[in-house]
Amino acid sequence: MRCASISFSKHAVQRLFSRGFSTADVALILKIGRGHRGIPGGLSLPKLSSVRVGRTEFNMNCVICKHGTTARGKTTGTLERGGTVVIIKDVPAEICSDCGEYYLDEPANAKVLTMSEEAVLHHAEVEVRKYAA
Ligand SMILES: [Zn+2]
Repeated sequence: MRCASISFSKHAVQRLFSRGFSTADVALILKIGRGHRGIPGGLSLPKLSSVRVGRTEFNMNCVICKHGTTARGKTTGTLERGGTVVIIKDVPAEICSDCGEYYLDEPANAKVLTMSEEAVLHHAEVEVRKYAA
């Protein structure tokens, strides 16, 4: 049942590749699922190679609008997996000052993935959780 309901259009996958994601990154994104753009709180992933793991702050240029730079903040992530909607509050993220797109670092990605899998495991329809580091 993992990710059975998450479907990505060919175009979306091609866009990921064109944005410089590696095959492994795209596979990760497909595994986690990505919020649809336009829905507040939709999850997105950074270009992983630009994330300096181990630092609490990393400013980078936004890959979506190409104008803004990101700053550390908190956001609410929404994931949908197999009929379960998981809303995770207070997720630490880099947030674009221009368009509001946000990016999770690897630890946050892993945490959000784990939390969403827990919700799926106990068949919650909608689950609201608070991110706890
Ligand atoms: Zn932006």
